Amino acid sequence: MSKLLIIGAGPAGIFTALELIKKKAKYDITIIEQGHAVEKRFCPKVKTHECTHCKPYCNITSGFSGAGAFSDGKLSLKCEVGGDLPQLIGENTAQELIDYTDTIYLEFGADKHIEGATETDEIREIRKSATIAGLKLVDCPIRHLGTEKAHQLYYDIEQYLIAHGVTLLTDKNCSDIIIKDNVCVGAIVDGKEITADIVVVATGRKGADWLDEMCRQHGIGREAGVVDIGVRVEVRNEVMEKVNKALYESKLIGWPQPFGNKVRTFCQNPGGFVAQENYDNNLAVVNGHSYKELKSNNTNLAILCSHHFTYPFDDPIAYAQKVGEVTNMLGDGHILVQRLGDIKVGKRTWQEELSRSNIKPTLTDAIAGDITAAIPYRTMTCILNFIEMMDKVVPGFASNETLLYAPELKFYSNRIKMDKNLKTTVKNLYCLGDASGWTRGLMMASAMGVYMARQLT
Ligand SMILES: Cc1cc2nc3c(=O)[nH]c(=O)nc-3n(C[C@H](O)[C@H](O)[C@H](O)COP(=O)(O)OP(=O)(O)OC[C@H]3O[C@@H](n4cnc5c(N)ncnc54)[C@H](O)[C@@H]3O)c2cc1C
Repeated sequence: MSKLLIIGAGPAGIFTALELIKKKAKYDITIIEQGHAVEKRFCPKVKTHECTHCKPYCNITSGFSGAGAFSDGKLSLKCEVGGDLPQLIGENTAQELIDYTDTIYLEFGADKHIEGATETDEIREIRKSATIAGLKLVDCPIRHLGTEKAHQLYYDIEQYLIAHGVTLLTDKNCSDIIIKDNVCVGAIVDGKEITADIVVVATGRKGADWLDEMCRQHGIGREAGVVDIGVRVEVRNEVMEKVNKALYESKLIGWPQPFGNKVRTFCQNPGGFVAQENYDNNLAVVNGHSYKELKSNNTNLAILCSHHFTYPFDDPIAYAQKVGEVTNMLGDGHILVQRLGDIKVGKRTWQEELSRSNIKPTLTDAIAGDITAAIPYRTMTCILNFIEMMDKVVPGFASNETLLYAPELKFYSNRIKMDKNLKTTVKNLYCLGDASGWTRGLMMASAMGVYMARQLT
């Protein structure tokens, strides 16, 4: 029986193992995960209302089910959304994989309801406003698991894998990959060598810079990808009501002047909460999620601006990290928040001024300040101009009390070179999911895991 070592128990790694079991493939599977088992994952902030900077790893981003367990669990059901896997394996295959992977989520108890599945007059109206504003509306049906339901679903998957013979080693860190004569033969886990016939690296966004380092150290083929830097915007539900009802999530893309960078909305959470996630290098990054039952009065969404570097600089992850570090420095290690009206008149926001608005920040330990002092001019200008375009689709979006949290950064910019069978430049080494740079969402990372399993059978 061949030994398969999967590093990272996020959706990509989990669905590789799940599909191999379903296909009754003869593999001795071990999954290494630096975070806790899903039943032991708990974000203390629910009680403390303040980030306690969990050590050694943030419970939001680490542990069985990866960034998925505490995530909003919005499964994007169209292959246009969630990453570039279709470019690698073809659109039809990617869509077939997503449809199939969705049936596995349903098998494990996902809600049968799909948001935004049918074209309505309201959606047509929103598309018309978007067209007038110069924005593209991407239709994408969504299955919403909800943070609390996602936790149970992934617990059931975890138990299923264990019951079917998978060795799940949680709280174990992989520090290195062993490559001899361009063949991967194992990995170093908690200082010990584990040999394997095949190694699958699926370490997610938080493991993207580690994988980047592995590539440079071992000569694994890679290329610099796009880096997304942005803000998390929060408005009252009333402002977003029309869009929330018609679409749940509005995926809008624009190329605002004068720079023409691609700017897009991402991860919209009606009635949701702005959240903080921490990376191992103490970087505090803003995100957002929503529960199925517990609702706030606000809607939050990310606005991300893509940057592509060519020559001589090819380290976009480092660039985004520097932006994040400066923003964290100005917030004394916390997430910064600023009112749009203050940005427009060129002043910082003071803590006491936040209470003068209709909107109450849902990230209660964010520090009022000046995000424009940290975010590069080009990025900030693109975001502000995009917000004005959004205001034509969602009147009130660009109002003075709209909140902008920073930094929102997406670390999937290192892209691993691979062919359509997911073969990297190193024999027996595969890289999947967000860490590989080919996905950036739950569904596509899961689908890539399924595809991986099919390549191994
Ligand atoms: C708060 C939040 C909300 C989100 N909401 C959504 C959403 O609603 N919809 C959506 O589509 N996407 C969402 N996402 C993104 C989504 O969670 C990711 O795209 C997806 O989880 C990627 O899957 P993955 O398997 O590639 O990596 P991950 O889920 O990141 O899993 C990687 C795993 O590898 C482990 N790991 C990393 N390095 C090592 C190492 N050296 N040794 C051992 N283990 C390691 C990590 O601890 C982690 O558990 C959200 C993300 C966050 C943080």
